[in-house]
Amino acid sequence: MSEITDVLKEIAAGKDSTPELLIPALEAEEENLSTLFEFADRQRKEFCGDVVHIRAILEFSNYCRCDCAYCGLFAGNKNLARYRMTPEEIVGTALEAAQAGYRTLVLQSGEDLWYTKERLGEIVREIKEKSELAVTLSVGERPFDHYAYWKECGADRFLIKHETADQALYDRYHPHSSYMRRLACQKELYRLGYELGSGFMVGLPGQTMKTLAEDILHLKELQVSMAGIGPYICHPGTRLRGNQDGSAQLTLKAVAVSRILLKDVNLPSTTALNIKGGLRDALNCGANVIMQKVTPSRYRDLYDIYPGRETKEMDLARQLSDLKYNLSQMGRTGL
Ligand code: SAM
Repeated sequence: MSEITDVLKEIAAGKDSTPELLIPALEAEEENLSTLFEFADRQRKEFCGDVVHIRAILEFSNYCRCDCAYCGLFAGNKNLARYRMTPEEIVGTALEAAQAGYRTLVLQSGEDLWYTKERLGEIVREIKEKSELAVTLSVGERPFDHYAYWKECGADRFLIKHETADQALYDRYHPHSSYMRRLACQKELYRLGYELGSGFMVGLPGQTMKTLAEDILHLKELQVSMAGIGPYICHPGTRLRGNQDGSAQLTLKAVAVSRILLKDVNLPSTTALNIKGGLRDALNCGANVIMQKVTPSRYRDLYDIYPGRETKEMDLARQLSDLKYNLSQMGRTGL
């Protein structure tokens, strides 16, 4: 048996995982790379089967109070036209997505306090009353009573990525908050009974291989149900302008290692990876989820977290049936 296979088996065994154990897998090249991807794909098939879960994502506001160094929505960005969907528009789009056949809706926005605890709660309540959609919230850091209230209103899941497990790097890139605060939010959401989604960016300037390994180990520690792993994409209007994009291949390796370590969690082929052409690849090396936008086309350009995002208009039912067809061509079933 090859050395890499031994390493992957040890990661899969899940005992005493350390960054040092994960790093050789993250550094795999050539035949070792194929061994890694095939191992992860077998684990995906064993623990998740051939179903690909399709998640509709509605980006309902690009207002943000934060100053993340990498994100185009940062509060100080005066070059971005801001939009905010009304509660009626949000519920209307959600119901349209349900009608088109989507089963899960991710409601995502910048940290926009216009959506108060009550306002967002009512939106969730109405969507849950009028549809069968599972609702995931992805609205960042809030007081814990907001999280508790939204859970009572029917929210099922919460996506809040840890972004990087390097505390000093996190604090440098998020001057409005702190790593400890982010972690506290994640732990509280888990305690409240949400299915918790975390995740991180690959290739964030300053990230090392050890941090990347720690990013993956952090997912295990948090007992996440979902992990969004995407490449960092440089936005020219941000503090981190001029840096290189994260590598799509390293992102795929991180997805593969996460599958091997975490077994049955939901791992999306993230939208950031999709724009780098990695959708099909990710589904072949551990991913079992796809996020598909249902944001009305007039707003898509404005949700400018990084350049190159897909903005084309398409009827929601058609968009979903095309995706299901493409998945069936890969021997997978879109749900
Ligand atoms: N405000 C919410 C939060 O903090 O969780 C959700 C919205 S935030 C814009 C969604 C995600 O976009 C972040 O978790 C981050 O990983 C990703 N993101 C932002 N800028 C990015 C960039 N330049 N490259 C890749 N991903 C980026």
